[in-house]
Amino acid sequence: MKRYIIGLFIIAILITGCSPSGNNSNSLNGDDKYRVVTTTTMIADLAKVIGGEYVEVQGLMGPGIDPHLYKASAGDVSLMQKSDMILYNGLHLEGKMGDVLEKLNDSGKLVVALSDGIHEEKLLTFEEGSNIYDPHIWFDIALWKQAAVHVTEGFKTLDEKHSDQYDANLKFYLDELDKLHEYINQRAAELPKEKRVLITAHDAFNYFGKAYGFEVKGLQGISTDSEAGTSDLRELANYIVDHKIKAIFIETSVPHKNIEALQEAVRAKGFEVKIGGELYSDSTGNPGTEAETYIGTLKGNIDTIVNALK
Ligand SMILES: [Zn+2]
Repeated sequence: MKRYIIGLFIIAILITGCSPSGNNSNSLNGDDKYRVVTTTTMIADLAKVIGGEYVEVQGLMGPGIDPHLYKASAGDVSLMQKSDMILYNGLHLEGKMGDVLEKLNDSGKLVVALSDGIHEEKLLTFEEGSNIYDPHIWFDIALWKQAAVHVTEGFKTLDEKHSDQYDANLKFYLDELDKLHEYINQRAAELPKEKRVLITAHDAFNYFGKAYGFEVKGLQGISTDSEAGTSDLRELANYIVDHKIKAIFIETSVPHKNIEALQEAVRAKGFEVKIGGELYSDSTGNPGTEAETYIGTLKGNIDTIVNALK
């Protein structure tokens, strides 16, 4: 009898010890999935793909939200505290969340920066000789593949038992990303070199430009947390007139007024540049649209760009 009770006790410990949330039993949904909190929508999408059936992903930032300016609410902090893992971009993309993420990391929480999985020599700096890295790593698919590998390592640390499944999900997804890369290359090839000039609201597309042969100019810098100066505007307007650029682009996560002001400044010089459409820069599209996923977002962008500049 005594042995039987001890046996039951051990089984109880094993069951509790195996529960994904460990000691933290205040599960959100009452099931046994790992709770993963992500910052941007691109990362939420990646976490869902790699985590698959074992994971409940909670994205803090919705579509159209600007991560440079996003501040974590009390509710966000509570979600992160209760989570099993936090995934974020890093390189100061989440410029206002640095302290919160650091504190959670210090408290022993599994906090993973996707940018830590990317070889440093592949990162672009803000300007020559600067040590401020451009955080918009998702726009070079080769880099996003490295980020996917790093996220997979995170899942395997969290849940070693299902490592094979996470590896299988990764393998499938890397193939999908290769196909996406091919699609973007094909579409970009429809534009002659001199037409591959991408002018947008802020400098989110430098990785994209480097990977797919576009010259990229943003009205604001690599963070939206800065003002576009009138000299920037004048310079860019002159450039558009001189090079007879057909279209410039607004972004879903940045107010449209700066690009509209640029269009106006070009018009004042007697040249007409159209607004070529809306690009997804720092977030994916709305749920229920094709751009809901990372892959859909990048496809949508290249289609908008090529169709407008052709
Ligand atoms: Zn940005």
